[in-house]
Amino acid sequence: MTQKALSLLDHNNKEGFFLMVEGSKVDWAAHANDPVGMATEMLAFDKAVKVALDFAQKDKNTAIIILSDHGNSGMSIGLQRLKKYDKASEKELFGHLTSIQKTAEGMAQLLNQTQREQAQELFEQYAQISLDQEDLEALFHCKSYKNSPIPLEERKGISTEKGLYSQDLSSVICAIYKKYLPFGFTTHGHTGEEVLLASYHPENHRPTGMVLNTEINEYLCRLWGLENRLPQLTDEAYAPHSKVFANYTTSIKGESNKIPQYLEVKLTKKKKLRIYPFTPNMEVGTDKEFQQGTAKKFRAPNNAVVDKTETFYLNNRILQIISAR
Ligand SMILES: [Zn+2]
Repeated sequence: MTQKALSLLDHNNKEGFFLMVEGSKVDWAAHANDPVGMATEMLAFDKAVKVALDFAQKDKNTAIIILSDHGNSGMSIGLQRLKKYDKASEKELFGHLTSIQKTAEGMAQLLNQTQREQAQELFEQYAQISLDQEDLEALFHCKSYKNSPIPLEERKGISTEKGLYSQDLSSVICAIYKKYLPFGFTTHGHTGEEVLLASYHPENHRPTGMVLNTEINEYLCRLWGLENRLPQLTDEAYAPHSKVFANYTTSIKGESNKIPQYLEVKLTKKKKLRIYPFTPNMEVGTDKEFQQGTAKKFRAPNNAVVDKTETFYLNNRILQIISAR
């Protein structure tokens, strides 16, 4: 995919291009605490990086930034139950992991396609794991295991201290992998540690050391000569509604703590403007016209974006666009 994207963009853009390639599923695997999924996703990402690097080195006019948007799962290589883990060999730490051929998700698919008598065999063949009674029970009590011998209503499907019982088959498989592999996890959520930053630039003008995420934006803007233009464009495209409609009465409709239905602006005594979140869609009409569905439809140059403070960020030319029509 990276190769294809690069060749399409390179052929069609004489003035250059920006490509973002996201290896996003490593995030899901980390949320699930699936070390097999995490490792294989990283390896796939590594291949994408090589494709991009090969392109940049040949092109001699392309820079690359490789970074993560956040940490996840607090994974450690080695954990307390692995005695003397600080002296563990590479084989002790990674031998078993590298022999597993299925991510938890892949194993879950396979299990649901196979007779339950073969469950143990599958784990031995694809994960070099001999399931014990506890593991089997956890699998059989899982509500999304199609081939379980336990009737659905009798399955526990709840988590225990050992974390093996769960509704979801791939979560149970993650718990089984965790039981047999020498890795620790502190959470199923995102974590706040500093993340890797790697980069390439044909003349070696690269960000190094400890860099704030906003400085990466500034770096990319410098490469493009957009230092002033991008903040200006941002102000034009994403001005807060209190600024865009400073002289108007506005209200936000919808339930609190949910994405609002729309922002309403009182344009005149009778006419109202409604702006719908995460779309470019707007409507102008009287209450009656909104009821009848005959309000006039408009499109903004970009989507309205809403944040948790209930601010709509809008293109600041919206009023001009509406009055021109
Ligand atoms: Zn995430």
